Amino acid sequence: MFPTTDRYLKNFTDLNRAPGRVWTPATKKKAPHKPLLLLALLDLFVQGHIKTNFIELTPDLSDLFTLYWSCIVPPEQKSSVAFPFFHLKNEGFWHLVPVPGKEQVLAATRAIGTVGQLRDIALGARLDEELFALLQNEDNQEMLRAALITSHFSEEARPVLIEQGAVNAEAFDYSLRLYEKAHGKIGDKEEKYKPAVRDQGFRRAIVHAYDHRCALCGIRMVTPDGHTVVDAAHIVPWSESHNDDITNGMALCRLCHWTFDEGMIGVRNDYTVITSPLLVRNSNVPGFLLNLADRPIIGPQEYDLWPAREALARHRRKFRLRS
Ligand SMILES: [Zn+2]
Repeated sequence: MFPTTDRYLKNFTDLNRAPGRVWTPATKKKAPHKPLLLLALLDLFVQGHIKTNFIELTPDLSDLFTLYWSCIVPPEQKSSVAFPFFHLKNEGFWHLVPVPGKEQVLAATRAIGTVGQLRDIALGARLDEELFALLQNEDNQEMLRAALITSHFSEEARPVLIEQGAVNAEAFDYSLRLYEKAHGKIGDKEEKYKPAVRDQGFRRAIVHAYDHRCALCGIRMVTPDGHTVVDAAHIVPWSESHNDDITNGMALCRLCHWTFDEGMIGVRNDYTVITSPLLVRNSNVPGFLLNLADRPIIGPQEYDLWPAREALARHRRKFRLRS
């Protein structure tokens, strides 16, 4: 083992974490933010997302942080990826890159509340060059992951985090496969994936394909923490179709998702919206749902990824939506 590797293993093992009553034995009664952010970061290295030594606070990083967070911290405790992203600067290997002109503000800042506040003063972070070089290697990624998990979490919590890491890697592969399949690069070969992997991979593929925009009403909202207003909806439900093709999905906001699943709204073969007479009869329905009638849907940029007409037709038939 090289001395540099030793140094970063020690850094990762000795992360300074605030103790507190709110923290459970799962996190050894200390704040878990820093090791969870580093686990999320390792996932991005594994997926080949980080090609230069500059870490941005992307929705992907935030999403992975939240996935780890919610498998180890009680649901009532919320957090923001901004906290560890900021406070890791005290660990010596993580260097915040100031927004030009905000160097002194960043240097004088002691605490940060939200992603928005952090973005005002920091563009992102840079790692020590030696650490960045180490992280290009798969064995080092795994060694550092194991060090984080064993040093900062209880014996019971460790397998949960290891499993989440495996799901993240498989879900990423699964979403890539869904893209390759949509582009006709691979066939229909049946492969078994765990439900958690399929759900996460399908969601990732659909949300990316539609760039967080609801295909029916067009709303697009992403919070600074990367939380998106859209769900990944199946056109023909998985239970009936066992089909996660991107062309059997649409990104839909919560209201449009529910309305589509209940068959009150559908899509014609020319990709315009069709509304059910049920909507017209119901005086409670907000007008904007009716306003969607006959409007074109908003599909992905790539035409290969647009909804399959057979799937849309099957949905219309099921709910007797007449074109
Ligand atoms: Zn919508």
